[in-house]
Amino acid sequence: MSHKVGFIGMGIMGQPMSRNILKAGYEVMVYNRTREKTLPLKEAGALVAETPAEVASWADVIILMLTGPEAIDAVLEGDRGLLSANPSGKVIVNMSTVSPSYSVQLNERLVQKGITLLDAPVSGSKKPAEEATLIILASGPEQAVRQLEPLLLTMGKKVVYCGEAGKGSSMKMMINLLLGIMMEALAEAINFGLKAGLSVDAMLDVVLSGPLSCGLFNLKTEMMKTDEFPPQFPLKHMLKDLRFVLQTADEKGASVPTGHTVFQLYRQAAGHGLSEMDFAAVKRVISEMSDQ
Ligand code: NAP
Repeated sequence: MSHKVGFIGMGIMGQPMSRNILKAGYEVMVYNRTREKTLPLKEAGALVAETPAEVASWADVIILMLTGPEAIDAVLEGDRGLLSANPSGKVIVNMSTVSPSYSVQLNERLVQKGITLLDAPVSGSKKPAEEATLIILASGPEQAVRQLEPLLLTMGKKVVYCGEAGKGSSMKMMINLLLGIMMEALAEAINFGLKAGLSVDAMLDVVLSGPLSCGLFNLKTEMMKTDEFPPQFPLKHMLKDLRFVLQTADEKGASVPTGHTVFQLYRQAAGHGLSEMDFAAVKRVISEMSDQ
């Protein structure tokens, strides 16, 4: 079991995830493009690197929790990037959400350099990241996944082995397609009820008391009531992920009719300046599409 863990990406997810690794007793070195975001981890006891290359030289396992493919490529191949330190024999665990085809291509690039890739995105957002209850959708060489399971379990409650690299990202696309549709469905139903003269409190009481109650709807209760959408899972990320879903559906020949529809709604929300808000802000677009 490795004790030297590099963590790159101190965003909404990366900060609490790296903090939980530190709490579990691992040595942790963090890096973030915007350096100020590393301060909370420094105060908690992590080392802070100046460059991704410094992380690659020091750590045995390097975790990436970045926006997506462009950010990963920048961290790998940019100035003093990870690969410039020649981390042959090490393991990179990409926990960022990317498309399955990007993961497959990334795996090919890294294998050529003697690096093992775990394609291991997560299901769950800010709160599960803080509470270490994420579900980790791990793929790559099974032995490497099993070896790193204790480390992965410092961030989550469960590791699901999905198959070779690329399959973790496919699993993530599947769950985020469902997530995007379910969020829009709740927002649409609540907006419908409001127009019909129902109170939000009564509607949520009915939804959450019956068989449709679920973790997601419970998590978004406050947002539905207040119409305020502080970001847990930013809308821009849902839009990015649905783009990957549609691209993958096209490649694989899967029909995703509702996926196409909700993609357009989240895109409209982004066009209305709601990108940085939680993806539940899609409710505002549905409200605007209704008679005023
Ligand atoms: P976030 O708060 O927006 O953080 C993004 C991170 O990527 C930041 O550290 C940012 O650095 C870095 N980054 C972006 N572009 C970069 C570049 N060109 N070069 C170097 N670093 C770059 O995102 P997040 O919510 O933590 O999400 C991270 C990943 O997890 C995404 O793939 C997202 O889809 C996925 N995810 C998120 C959630 C959620 O609920 N938030 C849930 C599951 C999965 P700066 O600080 O310098 O901008």
